[in-house]
Amino acid sequence: MTTTASDDSGISEYKTHCLFCGEAIEPLGADPCGVVLVTQWDQPTDKQHAQQLFCHAERIRTAASSKTPIHVLDREQSG
Ligand SMILES: [Zn+2]
Repeated sequence: MTTTASDDSGISEYKTHCLFCGEAIEPLGADPCGVVLVTQWDQPTDKQHAQQLFCHAERIRTAASSKTPIHVLDREQSG
């Protein structure tokens, strides 16, 4: 889904692909967006696993139900 490489400067050069559509995400506006997935969120941290995923802002906005407003995208649009 996502590949990461670092150059000698230590600055990461990354390519992100959207978890929803699989397309590459160009850096524009709120994109790329990162989503952190945590398994067994209600359990002690030693039982959890975490992974950062990437998606298009518009994809997560349309995928989320009305009961889960994505506040950070509203902030991005208002500056
Ligand atoms: Zn996408």
